[in-house]
Amino acid sequence: MEPAGLPKLFGKGGDGKCAICGSYVNFDDMTVDHIVPLSRGGTNAMRNLRLACRTCNRSKGNLSDEEFCRLAFKIIVNYKRKSLMNIFVKERIQYE
Ligand SMILES: [Zn+2]
Repeated sequence: MEPAGLPKLFGKGGDGKCAICGSYVNFDDMTVDHIVPLSRGGTNAMRNLRLACRTCNRSKGNLSDEEFCRLAFKIIVNYKRKSLMNIFVKERIQYE
């Protein structure tokens, strides 16, 4: 996307938030995310573009929103499971 299009897109959301995680992001840290990735038939049409922070955009890669949500959910569940295991292990050590 040409640089002149960025402010136009920035104005689309209007609030300076990442369209994926909802965090407030500085204009310089914003990236243009293709809702339907170009590699999967998406286009550069404005309706397929939105602003996202670098972290979300890089993490999403060429996944659809649904696939990205599933992946994020999986990561959170595994993280929590790991944390629970750590708690159980610590508790067990105290009782031994
Ligand atoms: Zn984000």
